[in-house]
Amino acid sequence: MSKIREDVIKRSAELLRLGATMLNEVCPDCKIPLFKLKGGEILCPSCNRKVIFVKTDEEEKELLEMLKASELEESISKKIDELKERMLTTNDPEEMDKIARTISSLIELKEKIRHKKI
Ligand SMILES: [Zn+2]
Repeated sequence: MSKIREDVIKRSAELLRLGATMLNEVCPDCKIPLFKLKGGEILCPSCNRKVIFVKTDEEEKELLEMLKASELEESISKKIDELKERMLTTNDPEEMDKIARTISSLIELKEKIRHKKI
């Protein structure tokens, strides 16, 4: 199973902050949950490009989605821990604020992923 990169998580959090919603659909290329932007465009946070849907076999899709969701959730948890560590070592109020906001969007993202899972 390929590791989900840090920038994918960061981008997902950023998309949520911009008002995008996470879909039940996954990217046909990298199987990462897709995001629907406010304008209705569908974007893959990994490929960072618009996605046009091609329906795949339902069962396979669900399985992949579940696998990816738990992998993503795990990566996000790790990231949150890292950020908490960094929060403890910084004295820069601006950075603290940035970290706090990132943590809160990551938690939100994690919750959303969890609720998609059965
Ligand atoms: Zn993709």
